[in-house]
Amino acid sequence: MNIPFLSFSSQNNLVEAEIRAAFDRVFQNKWYILGKEVGDFENAYAAFNKVQHCIGVGNGLDALCIALRVLEVGEGNEVIVPSNTFIATWLAISQVRATIVPVEPNKDTYNLDPRLIEAAITPKTKAIIPVHLYGQACQMDAIMQIAHKHNLFVIEDNAQAQGSIYNNKLTGSFGHVNATSFYPTKNLGAYGDAGALTTNDAGLAQKASLLRNYGSEKKYYNEVIGINSRLDELQAAFLSVKLKYLSGWIDERRKIAATYSQQLAGTSKLILPVTAPGAKHVYHLYVIRTERRDALEKHLNNNGIGTGIHYPVPAHLQKAYGHLGYQKGDFPIAEELAETCLSLPLNPGMSDEEIEYVTKTINKFYA
Ligand SMILES: *Cc1c(COP(=O)(O)O)cnc(C)c1O
Repeated sequence: MNIPFLSFSSQNNLVEAEIRAAFDRVFQNKWYILGKEVGDFENAYAAFNKVQHCIGVGNGLDALCIALRVLEVGEGNEVIVPSNTFIATWLAISQVRATIVPVEPNKDTYNLDPRLIEAAITPKTKAIIPVHLYGQACQMDAIMQIAHKHNLFVIEDNAQAQGSIYNNKLTGSFGHVNATSFYPTKNLGAYGDAGALTTNDAGLAQKASLLRNYGSEKKYYNEVIGINSRLDELQAAFLSVKLKYLSGWIDERRKIAATYSQQLAGTSKLILPVTAPGAKHVYHLYVIRTERRDALEKHLNNNGIGTGIHYPVPAHLQKAYGHLGYQKGDFPIAEELAETCLSLPLNPGMSDEEIEYVTKTINKFYA
């Protein structure tokens, strides 16, 4: 059997006719930038995420950068961020010239550990960026409490967790202003780059929509030094189609993950995903851990099963961050995760036979 790590086939089959119709609509309308499609998607996504405002932008990294800029986080400010995240979370802080303050995750949930956040706060701290890694919500009540106590801003990095829940509230609706990505592989993926900010603050929403469009509300009149990072009209039309299916796809992801966990439970050498109390997981990724990661990966690949590693090098050991002077050993949990994590194929439309083939192949490795 051949099981690719990523497959868009099932989702594409489901939406193909509607996606083609959306393309035709935009093509015929002849309005290609910041038109009705972007406005409609922003309204639909805000309603989905239960927030007042959604601002569509070019990608998830830009959403994070704009979030930092609307909160006026910049040079001289410190930003608390997980030591284990996709590099974009760190890059956004670098882009606004603020100081990155990495904090280790909880070693079971892989999410920012609220107990460690407070120790990292200094008089220069201005914001915390919790990342709902792999699709699991962070402990947002505790994080918001700490932020409130210390007068800090919170920006959720919700790129991997659209539809995820903490204590009955959706991720992307806790922070002062939040960022998400619609990169094709995300749970809600466009057919190209796309991203958005979500917020309940009208003033911040207004600032973000200025910044994404040259700092201009009225054409050729510029109020601030903005950038060009607009959600594409075509991508917005596509995303509106796919958004209607997101909840169903999340249910499928949860079911696949539950089957994986059930069928892998007998292998004591594996660490399976753990969901914290109050958190609901949307399984952007199903990540297992094992000391024999590289050998297991090879075994799976040799048997036709695609895998991923999220992520092989922690941000503090990336060449790009060499100037920060970090060394191996500085963030041991992030380093251990990088050495032991392995992501299994998880795509809506996966059959029971495919899931079972993956788990049998893994169990055989340990037999
Ligand atoms: C994908 C991702 C981003 C960046 O999104 P892009 O649209 O690729 O720029 C940021 N943070 C996390 C955690 C991500 O997974």
